[in-house]
Amino acid sequence: MKFEVTILGSSSATPIFNRNPTSQALNINERLYLIDCGEGTQQQMLRFDVKASRIDHIFISHLHGDHYLGLVGLLSSMHLNGRKKALYLFGPPHLKEIIDLQLKYSETTLQFPLEFTPTDAQKAEVIVSNNDITVETIPLDHRIACTGFLFREKKRLRKLKKEKLEELKIPVEYYTALKKGNDYTSASGVIYKNDTLTIDSDEPKVYAYCSDTLYNEQYFKQIDKVTLLYHEATFLNDMLDRAKETHHTTALQAGEIALKTHARKLLIGHFSARYKTLNELLDEARSVFPATELAIEGKTFVID
Ligand SMILES: [Zn+2]
Ligand SMILES: [Zn+2]
Repeated sequence: MKFEVTILGSSSATPIFNRNPTSQALNINERLYLIDCGEGTQQQMLRFDVKASRIDHIFISHLHGDHYLGLVGLLSSMHLNGRKKALYLFGPPHLKEIIDLQLKYSETTLQFPLEFTPTDAQKAEVIVSNNDITVETIPLDHRIACTGFLFREKKRLRKLKKEKLEELKIPVEYYTALKKGNDYTSASGVIYKNDTLTIDSDEPKVYAYCSDTLYNEQYFKQIDKVTLLYHEATFLNDMLDRAKETHHTTALQAGEIALKTHARKLLIGHFSARYKTLNELLDEARSVFPATELAIEGKTFVID
């Protein structure tokens, strides 16, 4: 199953030359899940061939402009392009009011159902569950209500040991039960334990998206042992005081978080416009957590 994320924007606060405010497109089994939608996201989608028609879910972490000012424009384009299927939107409660106000004064009635679910920044909740994944909110510690999102693959059925089944001449109609973990009893009454006939499926992969936040251990347990951790790293650690004041994280802290929560890989982003180049941020995070990459726009990271 495809499980990968394409970076559309990686800048904090304001766009700067060659970097856009935050947005990411997650491809899970060819369905797109858009995470945050800063200004310029539509242009980035065009540039990197991310099709709006394939997006059915949008997640907004919080109401600072760098995370959602592209949203109304995107909804408007979907409307103008004749979208009919429902769009599922998740975000802070007041997001609905902002969208409604914009639609009201442009006298626009969207041609498609916009199904809005408010997020609660006080507690973790499962907000999506389908055949492929579940999505949980991650309560973060920012100046205003803010959540991250945890995308967890569903556990797959067990895998059959094909040669073994053929050798024992087990009828095909029992295969589904075997995949679900049942034992097999032959016509002559011999019981075969499930684990002699199947093997466990791969561990479900998990992508954690930690948007703007102060370093705060309260959410560490929830993101323990993820496959890929995206974490904001707005500043270098020499700006730690500024990071605390503005409720952000430094690159060094992001590395420490990945280490403490046993992430397999770390992706850092939300870079302050003060950094023209990003090598120092990368080096700093790698000094504690070597398996770190920069969330470079246009790059796709496979979650495996
Ligand atoms: Zn931000
Ligand atoms: Zn923010």
